[in-house]
Amino acid sequence: MTEFSLHRALPVAEVPEWHFDTDVVVIGFGAAGACAAIEAAEAGARVTLFERNSGSGGASALSGGEIYIGGGGGTDAQRAAGFEDTTEALAAYLKAAGGPCADEAKCDLYAQHSLAHYNWLKAQGVPYRGNYLPGKHIEPVDDSTLIWSGSEAAEPFCDIATPAPRGHVIQHAGWGGGRPLVDILEARTRDLGVEIVTDARAIALIADGERIVGAVLRIDNANHFVKASKGVVLATGGFVFNEEMRRKYCPETFKLSDPIGDKDDGTGILLGMGAGGDAIHMEQFFTTCPWTMPEPHAYGVFVNVAGQRFINEDCYHGRVSRYAVDQPGGKVYLLLDCAHFSQPLDIANMRIAGTGETWAEVEAELEMPEGTLSATMEFYNRHAREGRDPLFGKRQPILTPLEEGPFVALELDFHDSYFSFFTLGGLRTNIDGEVLDREGAPIAGLFAAGRCTSGLPAWGHGYSSGLSLADCTFFGRRAGAKAAQT
Ligand SMILES: Cc1cc2nc3c(=O)[nH]c(=O)nc-3n(C[C@H](O)[C@H](O)[C@H](O)COP(=O)(O)OP(=O)(O)OC[C@H]3O[C@@H](n4cnc5c(N)ncnc54)[C@H](O)[C@@H]3O)c2cc1C
Repeated sequence: MTEFSLHRALPVAEVPEWHFDTDVVVIGFGAAGACAAIEAAEAGARVTLFERNSGSGGASALSGGEIYIGGGGGTDAQRAAGFEDTTEALAAYLKAAGGPCADEAKCDLYAQHSLAHYNWLKAQGVPYRGNYLPGKHIEPVDDSTLIWSGSEAAEPFCDIATPAPRGHVIQHAGWGGGRPLVDILEARTRDLGVEIVTDARAIALIADGERIVGAVLRIDNANHFVKASKGVVLATGGFVFNEEMRRKYCPETFKLSDPIGDKDDGTGILLGMGAGGDAIHMEQFFTTCPWTMPEPHAYGVFVNVAGQRFINEDCYHGRVSRYAVDQPGGKVYLLLDCAHFSQPLDIANMRIAGTGETWAEVEAELEMPEGTLSATMEFYNRHAREGRDPLFGKRQPILTPLEEGPFVALELDFHDSYFSFFTLGGLRTNIDGEVLDREGAPIAGLFAAGRCTSGLPAWGHGYSSGLSLADCTFFGRRAGAKAAQT
């Protein structure tokens, strides 16, 4: 009996019969797969989409549905709020957010076409109310469109790119706009005649020499051989729930306890690697703890177990959280004064670790050496009163002295507090979604998009909300279009 492996493509000579014959096979029905299928079908290809769950969704449907968009003079929502966002500023921000892992070609291309992509999303039926919601929000609790969703207005980003809010959220009351987003994309795939097969799990690719020509799908407990005359698009999500892969490629995540996503078992990455694809930035992950809620907590100061600050706390909550996880000692503290303290969210599981009438008393309760935390806060408050943060460049209005006792230190324990996380590394692809081998050459017939690839959200320390869905939807479209052309 033929053995199938994620790690080795099946030679076409071993295929006993074809159960499906199509042009483009898309594997995975989240945002990336849906967009790939739409573009491939629009280009006239016969498209068959296989999803192992009983319906569309994946992590995309669990998400906030927020997409990072801007440039080109600004979207309607940006312009109405007075932000004339430029393509250059968007490209510069994307590259800074990608840090050492940035794919400059993808950043430039997305910046050039982001506005058109927004119009494309609207043309698929994705609704946007068009208004701006100022302030710091993880997601709007109402149906607002535009929020600050990254570190645009904070150092060093504000010195690199003119700041503008770019988080565009589907019109949807409350959190969880991902489900309606995927529903709209699914409806579009059906209108275009994409053949959709659910409860179908990809277990191997099929190769004819160097070229990928199909896939093996497990359906109703039987193997089905699928011929793809133009190409296979992998859109299977990340690997946050595959402990073996995390141990091998992303061991830092074992400090944390709350992976988020759907099944995210890395299948697509393994299939791509098995066909000769390169996987890059596999150590990168997004994490956040909801420490900016309730909102006054956003004015707090973070210190590590040595009583030292480590970041300007006015940047994106996920960037602060990611730097926090780098600190020694397994925990950090969020310092607040009486004017800014409220009961933390239950879900955050942050406990009060120390209180005092002075910062020196808090320092003693935390059993830190004398003159550590107290000196940090004396230095911070003295300069905050003058509107300066000489160490990290935190800016007003978030920069404010914390001098109204009693004082409190909330403990964020990496293991016990709620640090949600998902992986960012994956297959190396070019701007057309072609999977590249270790020499950088495309593997014929093999495409990938979304979190089974490394894309716009390449660096955990620079992640901004909306970058993943921007990448999935835009480069999903590119992969589908290119596969259909082949
Ligand atoms: C709670 C939460 C909130 C988030 N909010 C946002 C946000 O607002 N904005 C943002 O940009 N990002 C957000 N993210 C991140 C973002 O949702 C994901 O990174 C993104 O949706 C991944 O999309 P994808 O299409 O690559 O994968 P997915 O949406 O996970 O889709 C992959 C699909 O492939 C299927 N599949 C996997 N393996 C196989 C196989 N072998 N055979 C067949 N099918 C298979 C899966 O079942 C799944 O349906 C959020 C994530 C979470 C968990």
